[in-house]
Amino acid sequence: MVHAATVRADARAALAAAAEHARGTLVTTEGGVADEMVRQALATTLADADATLAATDPAAATDPAATTGTTGARSATALRVQTAALAAADSAVAAAHEAWLQAEAAAAAAAPRATTKQAAKPAAGAAAPSCGTTYSGPPFYTSPATAGGDGSNGKLPPEALTAISWDVDPHGTPYYLTNAAAAALERLNTAFRAQFGHSLDLDLTYRDYDTQVAMRAALGSVAAKPGTSSHGTGLALDLPELPCEYGWDTPQRDWLVSNGPAYGWASPSWAGRNGSNPEYWHFEYRG
Ligand SMILES: [Zn+2]
Repeated sequence: MVHAATVRADARAALAAAAEHARGTLVTTEGGVADEMVRQALATTLADADATLAATDPAAATDPAATTGTTGARSATALRVQTAALAAADSAVAAAHEAWLQAEAAAAAAAPRATTKQAAKPAAGAAAPSCGTTYSGPPFYTSPATAGGDGSNGKLPPEALTAISWDVDPHGTPYYLTNAAAAALERLNTAFRAQFGHSLDLDLTYRDYDTQVAMRAALGSVAAKPGTSSHGTGLALDLPELPCEYGWDTPQRDWLVSNGPAYGWASPSWAGRNGSNPEYWHFEYRG
């Protein structure tokens, strides 16, 4: 009976951990995956797991009655049944999570890659830089300040923004960030230039609300909901995906991940290679 209780407790703890991880994954991937159905499937499995957890109160496992007489015998049977249910739910959460990861990996593998430009670079086997992307939608560009903006997400007025000094986007639009984020990026760029001999390349910084609306319409849930994108806060930047200078395992990205935080600029954990929504190109200003 002690053994059964231990197994049950372990199974319950494993399920709780798996469910908690899945819950975190759901939160961090909100509006950030190509196929919302996969998230919904995980959410359904998670709800089932939560129901199992709620139905198996931990107090039952330590109920003294479970260790005595015929009541104990019945409880031991109940414990085995519950343990089996927990193990099944645990497998379901784990399988759902694994399926989701595989779906994301498949999407990444199916997306266009910079094969030509990568091939032109000296690759070094497993350590070859990787700059694959799941993005296959139309191009969107960085935004000018929002005249008369109220300061909310995607509606930042000119006085809230500063253009970085060394580059503009292909349309001639300055790369805007909040005043503090821009000042910090200028300092970071000075250090980057000293290391690599040229300024940091940018693809997109501030994105206004109307552009986010257009992105959402064009891309669906792969684009953040208008009003929620970190690019609408003027505190995020995207590096260019091509050429592959800033992809996974490149000296440039590794340097930025290591040195950026000293200037307030970091790669969010969700955007890391093992994060819930890998985006090697995305950095955020944390102050
Ligand atoms: Zn981004």
